[in-house]
Amino acid sequence: MTPQDLFKNFGGKIHNDFPAVNAPVFKSPQGTPYLTAPGVVLIARPNIELSGVKSFLEGFDHGLGFASYVDDPTALSSGAQLCKIAGQTCYASFSPKRTVNRDAERYFKNIMESGHGSVLEHANYSFLLYGISRSLTHELIRHRAGFGFSQLSQRYVSGRVLRFVERPEFQDGGKFHQMFLERIDRAYTEYHKLADALLAEQGQGTAILSAEAKTDLRKKVNQAARGLLPNETETIMVITGNVRAWRHVIEMRASDHSELEIRGLAVRVFFCLRQIEPILFGDYELHELPDGTHSVTTPNRKV
Ligand SMILES: Cc1cc2nc3c(=O)[nH]c(=O)nc-3n(C[C@H](O)[C@H](O)[C@H](O)COP(=O)(O)OP(=O)(O)OC[C@H]3O[C@@H](n4cnc5c(N)ncnc54)[C@H](O)[C@@H]3O)c2cc1C
Repeated sequence: MTPQDLFKNFGGKIHNDFPAVNAPVFKSPQGTPYLTAPGVVLIARPNIELSGVKSFLEGFDHGLGFASYVDDPTALSSGAQLCKIAGQTCYASFSPKRTVNRDAERYFKNIMESGHGSVLEHANYSFLLYGISRSLTHELIRHRAGFGFSQLSQRYVSGRVLRFVERPEFQDGGKFHQMFLERIDRAYTEYHKLADALLAEQGQGTAILSAEAKTDLRKKVNQAARGLLPNETETIMVITGNVRAWRHVIEMRASDHSELEIRGLAVRVFFCLRQIEPILFGDYELHELPDGTHSVTTPNRKV
């Protein structure tokens, strides 16, 4: 099965060139919301325009033919074109003898095999992620180089958006699924019970829960109440990373050594990026593992 086929099998859709793999929300019999898969929505990607570069190129000896650079008849995806002009700027490779867009795949193969991955840092992709647990994001945010993260605050946001994530191992409908449902109902009830009790205590003027501003009052309650929430509490985040950084995360986290939930996320991110950047993410191989899940590998590690 190809990455494109699997993208569709996972419910992937492309909205105006922005892929997304959304995830449904379920409810326990008591009404506690939970999700069983990561939701991955691409919300930003590069937008490249080269026409303004022509005057710059015409400023060189016309015999070099640099201006032809912007008339390349082969259109590339925005990320590939951006990284390619960045790389070709290094050697002023603008003349008709340069590697033209038709041969972009060869150009990037060379970049990746020789480890000159810094040109891949120009293209950034932002995703909204949801249906992921706090334990997953604890691992994800360890990736520092080339990433920006904005994650739901459990201090500012009250229990009204509280949801949970069921691990793949519990999803067969058996006793572990039942235990999960009971556990999240318990956590949901306990959280609200504790928050209500803390609010009541705060109303009586308890010093450690007091604050000047109204939002700070609620924050003091939320920050204390969240202590009882389990690792399987859902979080949401917007994450932005460049191609080099995303490639590293896919290699580390979509590998078969990686933890199951974060691997599910990394594979979905890979599907989305592969859809829109077939050259920059074209060297990956998809594998089906004995348990029916997937991993992704590349010979070009850590470019
Ligand atoms: C299967 C698996 C198991 C793991 N188990 C554990 C564990 O038990 N305990 C634990 O604490 N962590 C664990 N980790 C996390 C791991 O150690 C890394 O912290 C995490 O994967 C981030 O990757 P990175 O270090 O490559 O950083 P990234 O931020 O993704 O950086 C990419 C690359 O940039 C370079 N770089 C980034 N920052 C620096 C820096 N400050 N100085 C020099 N070079 C830098 C490095 O070459 C690095 O590989 C595990 C990860 C995996 C995939």
